[in-house]
Amino acid sequence: MTFRLSIDGPAWDRTLREVYDRSPGLVPVIKGNGYGFGAALLATRCTQLGVPTVAVGVPAEIASVRTAFDGEVLVMAPLRMDELIAGPVAGSRVLRTIAQVEVLRAVAELSVPPWVLLELDSPVHRHGISPADLPAVATALRRVPLVGAAMHLPIGGNRRAVTQSVLRAVSALRATGVLPESLWVSHLSSDEIDWLKRQEPGIVIRPRVGTGLWLADRRTFGASGTVLDARAVPEHQPIGYRQRRSASGTLIVVSGGTAHGVGLRAGCAGGGRLHLIRAAMAGAAHGAGLAPSPFHWAGNRLRFADVPHMQVSMLLIPAGISAPAVGEPLACDVRMTVTTFDGIDLSAVSHRPVQAPSDHIGVRCESRFEW
Ligand SMILES: *Cc1c(COP(=O)(O)O)cnc(C)c1O
Repeated sequence: MTFRLSIDGPAWDRTLREVYDRSPGLVPVIKGNGYGFGAALLATRCTQLGVPTVAVGVPAEIASVRTAFDGEVLVMAPLRMDELIAGPVAGSRVLRTIAQVEVLRAVAELSVPPWVLLELDSPVHRHGISPADLPAVATALRRVPLVGAAMHLPIGGNRRAVTQSVLRAVSALRATGVLPESLWVSHLSSDEIDWLKRQEPGIVIRPRVGTGLWLADRRTFGASGTVLDARAVPEHQPIGYRQRRSASGTLIVVSGGTAHGVGLRAGCAGGGRLHLIRAAMAGAAHGAGLAPSPFHWAGNRLRFADVPHMQVSMLLIPAGISAPAVGEPLACDVRMTVTTFDGIDLSAVSHRPVQAPSDHIGVRCESRFEW
């Protein structure tokens, strides 16, 4: 009895094909938990789609992608000095990102340097060489096998400022005498990419996309737990880890707990006062045993009876309302990028999410189901 991801395989594949075909140069991103699907499954899809290049987050993720993908792999995490010191970094069909001046200089001295993508500082300011530092590394830049430049861009914010920042960075690079053949960008819309192409017609744009590809159509997949146990509870019965007194109803045990990512509270940037008030209210509801769970059944959101356990959750169906039977699946709204499944079924009709949490955490905050 598992916490399961059910995928309508043909429909999901159609969506992947559509997104890929309408985004020239798209580089699928396979990282972390493989967006809930797992890296190996995503790698098989990249091979089916015929993509030349995929992007992983960190070097350790290359192996899982290689199980099903033979093409070029970009490592998006910047190459670090300690990696260079530890041993050879040039892998077969692997592109490395460089985002630090000293690393670039060191790579320029290598007899077998890796293929290089130069990460430029962006409004995200996570990594990247700033325009002011470019003139000092012009010589080193000409000595490395440079494939292109890269910029990791914000998801929200002033979009005009974001696209302008890309143009400025490209100009700064051009001023050093280096014009990259390709520019690898993240989080630009197709309109923004089209606009950039018109401004810089000589540069191939390679959008790096994860969420917008794998999770493009949430109707094509869904998570569910299975009802493992159901028992009647009288009013005031102490239940659960915290021995809180229950209302009367049916106590349901469903597969899906904190180990799967169910019931975790995600960090949430910029939620503001309203968010805090909502969180406080959710906390109050929790105290009364009424916190909404991510599980739903017959169109109704079910409520937690206890804090989620590691592999199961306890839910309470109030008296007078019919309860699901043992063995029935309960659809569960999950944030795919933090969810681990016990099993994946590729031939299933998916469970439609009632309100799927956003995977772009902090862009659209979801605190409703999580505490
Ligand atoms: C994760 C990541 C992406 C993909 O992000 P999505 O929002 O999932 O499309 C793109 N670029 C970089 C540098 C990343 O780290």
